[in-house]
Order: sequence, then structure tokens, then C-alpha cells
Amino acid sequence: NGGAPDAKNLRVKLVLLGDSGVGKSCIVLRFVRGQFDPTSKVTVGASFLSQTIALQDSTTVKFEIWDTAGQERYAALAPLYYRGAAVAVIVYDITSPESFTKAQYWVKELQKHGSPDIVMALVGNKADLQDSREVPAQDGIDYAEKNGMFFIETSAKTADNINQLFESVSVQLSCSRK
Ligand code: GDP
Ligand code: MG
Repeated sequence: NGGAPDAKNLRVKLVLLGDSGVGKSCIVLRFVRGQFDPTSKVTVGASFLSQTIALQDSTTVKFEIWDTAGQERYAALAPLYYRGAAVAVIVYDITSPESFTKAQYWVKELQKHGSPDIVMALVGNKADLQDSREVPAQDGIDYAEKNGMFFIETSAKTADNINQLFESVSVQLSCSRK
């Protein structure tokens, strides 16, 4: 394709998991469309969006992003959703300890039932709400390290670290498939 000799074009299924309200849909919209709309009901109907990232070695990664239509409330449906996913982005809200507990539940579920080579990222979203923070960043860092996951705090509202999240995932994917 005219790129570097080791360039590849990867197509990967990415799912977002986490409590309702943590900002999964807003993260996707920020990444794919560069927008944040606090009033939008983006999760009405199952939505499917794709976005491609080009890495420095000219590998491209096309993410096929599955966002739930609120099915996160029904744990029994989750396996249908994450089946075949190469990447799981597990999101919590830094102002909600309950959502952090729920994120840990999803990590365990994927360790038991996800693809063995799935790339998992732990994301503490709403990092713009520092004054209401209830989950210390260190707790996320420690948990991710113990479980061999990538960790980042993001804000879909300010766009902080949103691109970095997907870029880091892309780099991990391209390394694990060399
Ligand atoms: P989902 O249920 O996980 O898909 O959550 P949504 O993306 O629908 O977001 C739930 C609520 O959190 C909405 O009111 C968003 O405006 C708000 N929200 C999402 N991301 C952020 C963020 O980074 N910062 C702040 N302050 N609010 C956010
Ligand atoms: Mg949603």
C-alpha cells in the first residue's frame, strides 16, 4: 500500500463497558466526531461508529465501535456484545465509587469470558470534575497495574486524553500483532 514495509491495516472491534451514566457514549462521540453535547441522547438505539487512527509506522487501525443502547443495565446481554471484541474500554466516573466497583466487575467478567488476547483499557472519565472526585487516580493506577491493563483518566467534556486513549490502544494492538 505504499506505506512503510511493516505497515498494516488493522480492523478491530472495540466495545465500551461500564455503568450507565459514566460517559461511554460521550467518549465515543468526542473521539469520532469531536463533539460533546451534554443533552444528546446518543444511546437511543444501538449505535455503531467507526474511526481510523494512523500510527507513526503508517499502520492504520480502524475501530469499529459498539456503543450500547443502555443494555449495560442487563448483564446477561453483555456476552453478545463483547463477543469477538479485540478491545474493551472499561469506563468509570471518577466522582462515583460505585462505578469504579462496577468497572472491576467488568474486568473480572472479561478475564473469565472475553477473548484471551483482548486488550483492556481502564478509563476514569469526567476528570474535569476534580472538586467532586471520589476515586483517587492512584486507585485506578494500582488496579490496572495488578490486572495488566492500560489506565488513563479522560474528560469527554474537555476532550482531555480522549485521543491519547485510542492512540495507546492502537499502539498496543499493533505491537501485539507484529
Ligand atoms: P453512558 O450512559 O455511559 O453512555 O453515559 P453518557 O455518555 O450518556 O453520559 C452521561 C452523562 O454524563 C451525560 O449527562 C454527559 O453529559 C455526562 N458526561 C459524560 N462525559 C463527561 C465528562 O467527561 N465530564 C462531565 N462533566 N460530564 C460528562
Ligand atoms: Mg451510552
